[in-house]
Amino acid sequence: MYTIDKIYINGQFVTPHGSEMFDLINPSTGQLAGQVRLGDAEDARDAIAAARAAFPAFSRTTKAERGAMLERLHAAVLARAEDAAAAQIEEYGGPRNTSVGRARYTAQMFLDVKRVMDDHEFVKTVNKSKVVLEPVGVVGIITPWNSSAWFIANKVATAIAAGCTVVVKPSELSARQNQILTECFHAAELPPGVVNIVNGRGDVVGAELSTHPEVNKISFTGSTPVGKQIARLGVDSMKRVTLELGGKSANVILDDADFAKAIPNAVAACYMNNGQACIAGSRLLVPAHRLEEVKALAKAAAEAVVVGDPDSAAVALGPIVTQKQYERVQRYIGIGIDEGAELVTGGLGKPQGLEAGYFVRPTVFAGVTPAMTIAKEEIFGPVLSIITYETEEEAIAIANDTPYGLQAYVSSTDLARANRVADRLVAGRVHINGIHDDLIAPFGGFKQSGIGREFGPYGLEAYLEPKAILGEHAQYR
Ligand code: NAD
Repeated sequence: MYTIDKIYINGQFVTPHGSEMFDLINPSTGQLAGQVRLGDAEDARDAIAAARAAFPAFSRTTKAERGAMLERLHAAVLARAEDAAAAQIEEYGGPRNTSVGRARYTAQMFLDVKRVMDDHEFVKTVNKSKVVLEPVGVVGIITPWNSSAWFIANKVATAIAAGCTVVVKPSELSARQNQILTECFHAAELPPGVVNIVNGRGDVVGAELSTHPEVNKISFTGSTPVGKQIARLGVDSMKRVTLELGGKSANVILDDADFAKAIPNAVAACYMNNGQACIAGSRLLVPAHRLEEVKALAKAAAEAVVVGDPDSAAVALGPIVTQKQYERVQRYIGIGIDEGAELVTGGLGKPQGLEAGYFVRPTVFAGVTPAMTIAKEEIFGPVLSIITYETEEEAIAIANDTPYGLQAYVSSTDLARANRVADRLVAGRVHINGIHDDLIAPFGGFKQSGIGREFGPYGLEAYLEPKAILGEHAQYR
């Protein structure tokens, strides 16, 4: 049992005004693992005041000064990578291999962002005028529980690179990961007030950040309904927003793809992070005449997935984060059955021997039509829907027939064809033949998957305001 009873304001760990204790349950066992004390709106206001006070000096730091901070942050986060991975495994059941990899990536993020900052021109000439890119101000950062530390690290690193100060409101479900990361921020000896972290409820601390006039921008990762709410709350103070929201990503398998590779990859693309990934390829689009082959391959791949204790290196699928989310996934599986989809494997209930935790059976549905609920809504669990198409044109139309547009996947042995299809998919990222990483290329969504982009130069620009200086500017700088 652990207790997290401090928040981090102005370079100090302080006891929050809020006194509510929130229970942290280990999803693999259903047992109480710890408690976190939640801050309230007053705590949020204290943190905003600290960030505001730190902003004038921090916004004038040089690239070299901020670069040194990012290097210290990298070292501090790398030194705690094992602890961070252990927290992810315990806190939301992230499989060991994924959690260790992500913890290292989280550290690497600070160096990647430093490189982007070093290469970025903060002062340039446009036509006759000088354009200066200035930090947007105080940034409120609101993050979800899935891959919590990673999202926070990316947003904080980018804000620092831009010269912004921040208040972070992490998900209350990832308190232990957040605590470790906060200790890293402290160890890196940033100027007080540059990074502040307030644990608390979304509708209390998150809402305060989203409305407070001294916060200039909100960078949010989470669900589409909450993202909309945050945008609404911020409009009176004209907050800039970066919103990374939900998805219902299509995985288009063209008829000339290498099915023996593409279908197991597609199952992995849906089940990543226990099926709890915004970028999960949850709709598998396949040529109708190859359906039987696809079903057999998908069934074999899903049944080969080892479900269980996420701390074991052999396990690829851990539990769902909470009892509530588990019930939500079960409800969707039930709806799939009720609406007439064919259950290829998996289904309702827990896998044998794993009744204590919130484990879901790796599930594949075939005979799914685009009109079915499981084809339309984000399930956030290991549930794959196979949808058939007759022509390439129809595949593209089905893939794009969604209010989301976060990612898409295409498989084909003909690269020109794969690229032609990729060009027509409405998604912030399209992966060709597999799942790929690029932490510099832009990441974000079309349509209701969000506003703005993260990573690389596009991500950095989202924390900067261009100011044009016209007239006799050159002689005054
Ligand atoms: P969520 O939207 O429920 O919560 C996200 C954060 O918002 C939490 O910190 C929460 O406390 C806070 N919040 C809740 N209500 C709020 C309010 N009224 N005002 C301000 N803040 C509020 O999301 P979740 O369940 O933690 O995460 C899962 C969701 O996140 C999924 O929909 C997933 O697709 C999405 N997601 C998107 C990306 C992406 O990059 N696009 C990445 C990961 C997760």
